[in-house]
Amino acid sequence: MADRFFPNVMPDFVAEATAETQDEEGKEPAVVTQDSLMKLLSMPYSSLSQRFKRAALDLKETITLETWGMTGQQVQDFTLYCGTLGTAFFLFRAYLLTNNNNDLALSSQIVKACDTASFNSRDVTFLCGRAGVCALGAVLAKHAGDEQLINYYLVQFREIKLPRNLPDELLYGRVGYLWACLFINKHMGAGTIPSTYTCSVVNEIIKNGRELAKSGRCPLMFEWYGEKYWGAAHGLAGIMHVLMDMDLKPDEVEDVKGTLRYMINNRFPSGNYPASEEDKKRDVLVHWCHGAPGVALTLVKAARVFGDKEFLEAAADAAEVVWNRGLLKRVGICHGISGNAYVFLSLYQLTGNVEFIYRAKAFACFLLDRAHKLISEGEMHGGDNPYSLFEGMGGMAYLFLDMIDPSQGKFPAYDL
Ligand SMILES: [Zn+2]
Repeated sequence: MADRFFPNVMPDFVAEATAETQDEEGKEPAVVTQDSLMKLLSMPYSSLSQRFKRAALDLKETITLETWGMTGQQVQDFTLYCGTLGTAFFLFRAYLLTNNNNDLALSSQIVKACDTASFNSRDVTFLCGRAGVCALGAVLAKHAGDEQLINYYLVQFREIKLPRNLPDELLYGRVGYLWACLFINKHMGAGTIPSTYTCSVVNEIIKNGRELAKSGRCPLMFEWYGEKYWGAAHGLAGIMHVLMDMDLKPDEVEDVKGTLRYMINNRFPSGNYPASEEDKKRDVLVHWCHGAPGVALTLVKAARVFGDKEFLEAAADAAEVVWNRGLLKRVGICHGISGNAYVFLSLYQLTGNVEFIYRAKAFACFLLDRAHKLISEGEMHGGDNPYSLFEGMGGMAYLFLDMIDPSQGKFPAYDL
């Protein structure tokens, strides 16, 4: 299945040039090489960081134009995942980094249009539903100091009703709603969405997970459209990821740990993870949505939350798979190189190991150096929604923003 990804021929490590070997920003490093990617990899980080910033801000103009300006400011798909809210979320990230008030104002304007477009939506999550619109709207209003607007979006958020037949997964289900609560509380203060809103949802998830797990060896199991997925988007990795941020009882914590151990013990011999219980023979997908990258982010979080060494070791094993097979022929966050780069960023942030920062940098530099060319030559897929946050250039631009200071970057709309 080598056609899914580019063979990773980048060196396992390249030392950066020092300030002495490169006197000013943008100049080529003293190391003599013909290869433009190698030049980026050996550049001092302070210079490379400026390259990422410039590329991200250039892309910001294109993305805003393509997803907002040229649409006549009409919202076809309001979602953060592939629609207009993704542009607002990207602009919010840019605002946090640069304090440019135009980004804040434009982001708020886009959310307003998404509010209208999503008013009758029955989807309730951050990534694909109404909760994302109201949560981001409230947080932006707080940054703008607009009390009336904060109130409006919080009232709207509290009016979201969770249907009884809701799945539990991240994109359309209960944990996707819980993540929106976490996002609001992080940015607006603990208790803004009180635990009365979240407790019953957590209880329901645990109850469902135990019920479906009854006949199996894993303590918790969930279904989405009849399939028991493992990955971040629809399965165990995404559900465990969010549960670890909730107040759990000791027996529930044990079930979360047990579920992660079950996944580690039943991974492929290659170190990759199956897409689902039903699909344990096809070792193919190395995506955030399905496969090692999404599981790795959850294991990094488990290592941070529980402190168990086994989770950190398993996360590093998964990251090795991502390094070897994760240079996908797509740019995006969900199933592209940009999303996979966050595996290394999260491991760097947990361990401080510079090898991980190099690997994150290598994936990002690969995109910086050749994504446009590869897409125009048809060697790389530009995405069905080519400027969207989760499938297109929006995700690449978001990664570039996060690479300016790699100690801070978090997988968008997933890591808090
Ligand atoms: Zn995907």
